[in-house]
Amino acid sequence: MKSLDEYAVAAEKAHGHMCAGQVLGLRMAIYGMKLLAIEEPEGRDRKRLVTFIEIDRCATDAIPIVTGCRLGKRALKFRDFGKVAATFCDLKDDRAVRVVARETSKALAKELYPGISDKNQQQMRAYREMADEDLFSIEWVKVILGPEEFPGYKGERRICEECGEGINFKREIIREGRMLCKACAGERYYTRL
Ligand SMILES: [Zn+2]
Ligand SMILES: [Zn+2]
Repeated sequence: MKSLDEYAVAAEKAHGHMCAGQVLGLRMAIYGMKLLAIEEPEGRDRKRLVTFIEIDRCATDAIPIVTGCRLGKRALKFRDFGKVAATFCDLKDDRAVRVVARETSKALAKELYPGISDKNQQQMRAYREMADEDLFSIEWVKVILGPEEFPGYKGERRICEECGEGINFKREIIREGRMLCKACAGERYYTRL
């Protein structure tokens, strides 16, 4: 593992700016690795880790900087719950810990640095220094997922009987005997023009 400062340099580069959310995301991921006793998330431990993130904000970009888990590697899963929370899953030891940013952390940052009027600066400074327990609450959880959810899964590619588009990773839906993609089965997030 690198130091927080070293991760911060990489995070700023990837995210485009440094902000309180970045610091929070880095701290969240470092804490997750510590709780799982994963020492080399980008080295020898890289295949044992999958991360679920529950929000798409600044903190989200910082998490792969530490964990190495990326969307395109299927090791980063986005579940849009609108919460500043992430679950770190250790596939080797079959255990997972969910780390949630505490609602009180902003107020605590204000208490620590009342002299810094800029909220982002105030929180950035405080989030670097606050104890893990003050920043986050944790719970040990079980994440049950099929092999098709994980990196390295090789499954058969299906073709939607409605639109003809290819479907990977068992995302097809059987409806009245027909094999459909999620869009044609009614889960389309766009409207056709
Ligand atoms: Zn940001
Ligand atoms: Zn379709």
